[in-house]
Amino acid sequence: PARPRPLVAGNWKMNGLAASAAELDAIAEGVAAGGAGRAEALICPPFTLIAAFAARLAGKAPAIGGQDCHAKPSGAHTGDVAAEMLRDAGASHVIVGHSERRTDHGETDDVVKAKAEAALRAGLVAIVCIGETRAEREAGKTLDVVGTQLAGSLPAGATAANTVIAYEPVWAIGTGLTPTAADVKEVHNFIRGQLSVALASEGAGVRILYGGSVKPANAAELMGVENVDGALIGGASLKAADFLGIAAAY
Ligand code: PEP
Repeated sequence: PARPRPLVAGNWKMNGLAASAAELDAIAEGVAAGGAGRAEALICPPFTLIAAFAARLAGKAPAIGGQDCHAKPSGAHTGDVAAEMLRDAGASHVIVGHSERRTDHGETDDVVKAKAEAALRAGLVAIVCIGETRAEREAGKTLDVVGTQLAGSLPAGATAANTVIAYEPVWAIGTGLTPTAADVKEVHNFIRGQLSVALASEGAGVRILYGGSVKPANAAELMGVENVDGALIGGASLKAADFLGIAAAY
């Protein structure tokens, strides 16, 4: 089947102030100039910047997304933000199940699945993160762990249009370490197979991003791997030049 349109997504994590609009502008200019090729570009800033960034772009690329959402549409959940609120603020995507959420906030596959389903309910694209720890990889459990997380976190009603999977080995996030191209290929091919079982023909079109220390210098190699349909970028998405340097792989 034809490869799906790639997605190059930036996760700003807990970084960014109002003045970061200058970086967003530089990214938007680069994308408008063709810097992301045929890829779709997305920036996920902290909640505080979503409405301002979406208004500033007024529909131009990059798309704007959240980094998390609550499973419920509203209610007594102090400090949480609903998927419907992200949509209302101008977001089109939301990351769920990032390893930092799983670790720092004890999010289980059940919780991540409920959040992904909330994203779909609100009309957002859910970017569902999965990935093994160093210890799990060394114990030879990578495919077991990834398969269990995928089965447990995949939202009901997932389609190629509304769901994206991000494979992010926990040990590669923010460390400068990356798996070999062969290791990435093994996991992405496995995920594709699992998606085809779970979603039948729709599974072929679900984008599978690689995330974990993607930089301009390694983007072409990682993005060239079979079944790698884009990148989820942390640190390197904070600088327009680095984000665009990665997007240039497309
Ligand atoms: C991430 O946190 O999603 C990520 C991939 O981070 P980094 O690119 O900094 O490793």
